[in-house]
Amino acid sequence: MIAYLGPFIHENDTDSKRDDDLLNVFQSLDLQGSIDYLATGFAGKDFGGLYSLKPLAIIRPRGADDVARAVKAAYRSPNLTVAARGNGHSINGQAMADRGLVIDMRSTEGNHFNILRINGEILLDVSGGALWEDVLKRCVSTFNLAPRSWTDYLGLTVGGTLSNAGVSGQAFIYGPQTSNVTELDVVTGKGDILTCSETENSELFFGALGGLGQFGIITRARVKLQSAPDMVRWIRVVYSEFEEFTRDAEWLVTRPEGESFDYVEGFVFVNSDDPVNGWPSVPLDPDHGFDRTAIPRTAGPVLYCLEVALHYQNNEHTSTVDTVVNSLLGRLRFVEDLQFQVDVNYVDFLLRVKRVEEHARANGIWDSPHPWLNLFVSKRDIADFDRMIFKNMLKEGVGGPMLVYPLLRSKLDNRTSVMIPSEGEIFYLVALLRFTPPYPKVPSVKKLVCQNQEIVQLCIKKGFDFKLYLPHYQSQEDWERHFGNQWSTFVDRKKSFDPMAVLAPGQKIFKRVC
Ligand code: FAD
Repeated sequence: MIAYLGPFIHENDTDSKRDDDLLNVFQSLDLQGSIDYLATGFAGKDFGGLYSLKPLAIIRPRGADDVARAVKAAYRSPNLTVAARGNGHSINGQAMADRGLVIDMRSTEGNHFNILRINGEILLDVSGGALWEDVLKRCVSTFNLAPRSWTDYLGLTVGGTLSNAGVSGQAFIYGPQTSNVTELDVVTGKGDILTCSETENSELFFGALGGLGQFGIITRARVKLQSAPDMVRWIRVVYSEFEEFTRDAEWLVTRPEGESFDYVEGFVFVNSDDPVNGWPSVPLDPDHGFDRTAIPRTAGPVLYCLEVALHYQNNEHTSTVDTVVNSLLGRLRFVEDLQFQVDVNYVDFLLRVKRVEEHARANGIWDSPHPWLNLFVSKRDIADFDRMIFKNMLKEGVGGPMLVYPLLRSKLDNRTSVMIPSEGEIFYLVALLRFTPPYPKVPSVKKLVCQNQEIVQLCIKKGFDFKLYLPHYQSQEDWERHFGNQWSTFVDRKKSFDPMAVLAPGQKIFKRVC
């Protein structure tokens, strides 16, 4: 395909001159993909809906060569920045480039996709622009294999989640997605295409994993696979006491390998009949009622749901599955009679949030703003977090899920750029997944953003050991605090791989060197 070059709309003479110069630069790039200067609106939006920054152009690369050419041209230009855009599911404009170039990685989603067997491991080469949902469907249908570690929602790209961490209920076994790749192809901020792994260009490999797009654009990832189960027993049980909920969740995630469920998560919900935030949000099947009379009288304003799942094959007898499930559930102290189970196909289980998406799209809340807040909070402080935040500030819910579940430090590689609390083996993911209905009577988005800031400030004031996940800061001091003693490594890696600070300007960590 010949690069498509459309006309510019200029705001003033200086812009016009600059844009004409750039046009000349890009005409000489000889890309196999395309450049679009006109329909740039979509790259100025993201899932968060809080920021809007228009790029100069969108590049739809054919592959790594196109990405490298575009980055090299930006590197040589006086002040151009480049943002890789996965599926734009960031909250705070992280994949945007204000009057810079946005590289739409989805145009490369079909590249690669090769299975390899190396030293007894089964691995998959996949494009950085592929959606995890497509990786899942192709892997299961073609090879009956699947990646080991997931996110809850799979309409996200491989490069996008690897630039953060990628966590879900499997992470206590395998670590986040960043712990499940062995090799990457990365286009650095100088426009070089480098293959990297633990043993080759290892600074780039570990830097890029969780690196918020700061060191390079991931064009290929080599992902660990396992054999795919046919079915999943999906279970939810309810607790009224946070201590019991955390004790059981922690027990499950610290069992020896193969002696626990295959997935462990949890969430907080409101102790009321509120259809979004309360009891109705718990049953897995609309025909399962929630027996409110089973809730202990001592229960507070919020309750807790432990969500677990067990994989099995079609040829396994139901009684075998029942025995494993019952022996694990038998050790837990949830509220009797508040237990929900369904059996679902493995792919349907992993695509469970897709159904939420369809529903949310139908009633308009998928496209309205999402002022989400994600944190990693150390086990040391999670009970205080519950008392001050869940039971107090958020006792009426956030208009969507409030996830809280334990993860293990030993499942992450501390050479990556992923930041977690500084102390202890166990820390919790806390996710406040706010959906704002597009009708009045709900707090304004501004108020919700303020409430998020209040929560973060409270965590700082109380001295909680925590990190923002999918971090978003405005000042260099905040970023320095976020990275703590890793800051100098982060800065050194930036100097090596993106010395002009061309990449991922939407993260607002470094300023473009002009
Ligand atoms: P984008 O938002 O497009 O990009 C994110 C950042 O990565 C940007 O800075 C961008 O420049 C950079 N980037 C994108 N592609 C590349 C690349 N190929 N190479 C280098 N840098 C790149 N996260 C979890 O961990 N677990 C979950 O369960 C989970 N569920 C989610 C559910 C929903 C509905 C949403 C909206 C988000 C969820 N997330 C979850 C967060 C998600 O992982 C991040 O928002 C992720 O960044 C989104 O991926 P994306 O492909 O849309 O990336």
